[in-house]
Amino acid sequence: MSLFKALFPFFDASNEVYLDSAATSQRVNASLLAMQEYYCQYNANVHRGGYVSARLASNKYEDARTVVAEFLGAADASQIIFTSGTTDAINLIANGLNIADLQGSEILLFESEHHANLLPWQHFAAKYSLSLTRIKLGDNGTFNQQERKAALASITRNVAIVAMAHVSNALGNIYPVTELCKRAAEVGALSVIDGTQAPAHITVDVSAIHCDFYAISGHKMYAGTGIGALYGKKHCLEKLTPSKLGGEMISHVTWDAYVLQPVPGRFEAGTPNIAGAIGLAAAATFIQANLQRIQETELALALYLLDKINPLARSQKLVILGNIGTPEYFTKESSAIALLSFYIPKIHANDIAAHFASHGVAIRAGHHCAMPLMQSLSIEGCARISVACYTTYQDIDAFVVSLYQLFQESA
Ligand code: PLP
Repeated sequence: MSLFKALFPFFDASNEVYLDSAATSQRVNASLLAMQEYYCQYNANVHRGGYVSARLASNKYEDARTVVAEFLGAADASQIIFTSGTTDAINLIANGLNIADLQGSEILLFESEHHANLLPWQHFAAKYSLSLTRIKLGDNGTFNQQERKAALASITRNVAIVAMAHVSNALGNIYPVTELCKRAAEVGALSVIDGTQAPAHITVDVSAIHCDFYAISGHKMYAGTGIGALYGKKHCLEKLTPSKLGGEMISHVTWDAYVLQPVPGRFEAGTPNIAGAIGLAAAATFIQANLQRIQETELALALYLLDKINPLARSQKLVILGNIGTPEYFTKESSAIALLSFYIPKIHANDIAAHFASHGVAIRAGHHCAMPLMQSLSIEGCARISVACYTTYQDIDAFVVSLYQLFQESA
């Protein structure tokens, strides 16, 4: 039994072997209770009313911003915008940037980027005649010294934006974002981090990373769906033009003009996801209080999983993608993410997923919203197991049994 499983009510209702936490995690009780408390005890809109519940709701919503700021290592709560998730956050940046504030003509991205951190930049590049440049990966999606040097060398004064995932959802690679953001700052490029897959597993400290923007999604870190946060350096946020207009984001309106509120209010038009923000803060508090034990749990699970799956990789029955398949991956403290993607030559990813689903094992297979990566790897898709703090050794065992059955059935 995992130390944490009892804190996740999903497992009271479901016997599923849940190994798809990178798609969405289960919700921690503390987050669910915080959301329920808001709806049941002080449900009111925020920043609008002076009555008791409205004041309480506004205070809790702003307290949530402070908690998320501290969780991400931001200096000030005003650097946090509540969004509906990473997709929303990156669109907010890409739609809000003014080309006059940028240098150069290139946008640099890892070739493993999730579509959420690719399509908004494709759109931006087409609009302003910029080019998209790939930061290349090595064999089977690995990122080692050689790729690291090439990535750093590609950040030149011609680069306008470096937009990169902190952790790849398709490969589990943890990218050296601190080093890359430092280089981006040296040459005057803007740095945008898609942090979706990081905060449930590793420490995120935006001040230490020195990024200009960092986006997260609540549902990947034990909170609800439809809530996320965008961190931005104050001067970077102030340069963005809000793309959503409407109630609450203004300080004054006349018939034909409006004056924006200061940051962050100007980016939160309309009624925000109040319960979601409060639930996100509760999930962040849970992670912060338990991160060391979460990491120990996940590291042990990753090693256990690799121990089972490596013989199959050595006998070339399957191919492990990304850095998790390389021996150096587990040598640095806290550097492991228990996310393992693999493909099986001659078995289609969809058939792999269907097989596991029929055995009650929830894994993801397909292109993982990273189609260009699949094209670079010359595969149609891959299967992915992703663990979280509530995953157990029994879950891994069930996966492995089912994997061996797959090989038997397709022999
Ligand atoms: N970026 C990465 C690395 C992801 O894994 C995901 C979701 O799978 C996203 C962005 C998009 O997140 P959301 O759907 O919460 O906006």
